[in-house]
Amino acid sequence: MNKSKQDVKKFIEAAIREAGKSTCKRDRCGSIIVNDGEIIGKGYNSPPAGLESQRCCSRDKNSLHKKITDKTCCIHAEQRAIFDALRNSPQKIKGSTLYFIRLDNDGKITIAGKPYCTICSKSALDCGIKYFVLYHKEGICTYETEEYNKLSYTYSE
Ligand SMILES: [Zn+2]
Ligand SMILES: [Zn+2]
Repeated sequence: MNKSKQDVKKFIEAAIREAGKSTCKRDRCGSIIVNDGEIIGKGYNSPPAGLESQRCCSRDKNSLHKKITDKTCCIHAEQRAIFDALRNSPQKIKGSTLYFIRLDNDGKITIAGKPYCTICSKSALDCGIKYFVLYHKEGICTYETEEYNKLSYTYSE
């Protein structure tokens, strides 16, 4: 295995470890942000600030008004990784790569699905993240964040 493949494996494994910390009742996801071989941000999905009082994992999404464009319950793993990087390594975000993975019910890595989260795609692009890496049926897939953001807006089932 060449060095860059080894690195990708290492970063995917780090994202899997993050996802293992998720407390969301719907979905368990993990994300890490890497620049120059160094992890500069990490996150998993759970209620904002870890507050149980803010948990709404079991709320019916269809009960929310159409103006509420983010109908998800928890802070997304990518959002949290972005906040973490902004807080701790703001000067290293430009040109970085974000890895995102999702776990199945058994805690094993599963396919991420097509890009659709416009909150995360816009945020990643705005703070200078250059690449977005997802795990698909075909394997690891790397997108330019600009393309990823456009794709997120054209999502369909
Ligand atoms: Zn949740
Ligand atoms: Zn998101």
